[in-house]
Amino acid sequence: MSSDVIHTAWCEILTDRIANNLSLALSLLPEHAEFCAVLKADAYGHGIAEVAAIVCEHRIKTVGITSNAEARLVREAGFEGTILRLRTATPSEIAGAVADRVQEQVSSLYTAEVIDSLTEHSEGVHLAINAGGMSRDGLELNERDGHDTCQRIVDLLGDRIVGICTHHPSGSEQDLQLSDQHFRSDLNWIFSNTALKREQVNVHAGSSLSLISSTPIETDFYRCGAILYGILKPELGFEHTMQLKAQITNITTYPQGSTIGYDRTTTLTRDSRVANIALGYANGFRRNYFGRSHVLIRGQLVPVLGKVSMNTIVADVTDIPVVEVEDEVVIFGHQGTGKIDIKRIEMQADTIMADIYAEWGQRNPRVYI
Ligand SMILES: *Cc1c(COP(=O)(O)O)cnc(C)c1O
Repeated sequence: MSSDVIHTAWCEILTDRIANNLSLALSLLPEHAEFCAVLKADAYGHGIAEVAAIVCEHRIKTVGITSNAEARLVREAGFEGTILRLRTATPSEIAGAVADRVQEQVSSLYTAEVIDSLTEHSEGVHLAINAGGMSRDGLELNERDGHDTCQRIVDLLGDRIVGICTHHPSGSEQDLQLSDQHFRSDLNWIFSNTALKREQVNVHAGSSLSLISSTPIETDFYRCGAILYGILKPELGFEHTMQLKAQITNITTYPQGSTIGYDRTTTLTRDSRVANIALGYANGFRRNYFGRSHVLIRGQLVPVLGKVSMNTIVADVTDIPVVEVEDEVVIFGHQGTGKIDIKRIEMQADTIMADIYAEWGQRNPRVYI
């Protein structure tokens, strides 16, 4: 994005905070456990090239991605370590990722054969197990042919298998204990019934939620995304890493009784000064925020009125003594002593922060601070 373009809606990426969150996360690692920085979804909306640069500075050895485009950007950022794909790839994807040295997940004979048939494929692969009940793409050992399939995959790929992984579906202590037990028993079966040896593979299952939980789990490294972006545990010092902002483009006074926005859902109960703000649902200020959202202007929390338009919203600024066109409006983040925090925005959006970050980051120009 050329720097002489004026933006009236943008998201700020707080790179120092990503670096801080990463350092904090590393300090939470149990002894001997390693860290895999998860950079999928364009680094949760933060821009994968920029976050990969931070990851390189911290000498992180493994990153997690999903698409080939992400793998390429990580290599272009100068990352020399292991790139792990966090889902099963299609045959074309696998072939297309050889040059970027992506380690693939294998959970079926089909994928194992695809990899075996690619003579130029020399990276290690990871056997993905459905231990915790995600049932996305992990191999289910307890299914009728599960054990047989597992043995055949190991027979075919042998010591090209460098990892065995699963993904736990819940961070609640009880649920995590159960899926960890399940994973351990699957691992026991694999090490007793195939040629794979515990000391020859990395076992990995942890994510941000298990890193901050008190349940000890079987994992050689933690694949963490959320925690890098300050989504969890503010009490430990993790801070949000993106702020969504826009500018006021116009200020008008309308008389009591005026209706606001599409379908006239809102009627002014007093003469009101309203500010028109340069973002709408196209920027990820979702239509379902209607009736329950506030923004910060001059450090003050003010209500958004009426249905959300594609590129604008309207806020009631009657109670702010001085407001001007080009004033900065904070949709998420801090302004003066005011703040709209993760809890508040998650309630407003009725979803989780990772979902919101990913959307904002893709729908707005990113400004790196
Ligand atoms: C997204 C993902 C992670 C990271 O999860 P966070 O909760 O964001 O830390 C880890 N492992 C897999 C397989 C994933 O898909």
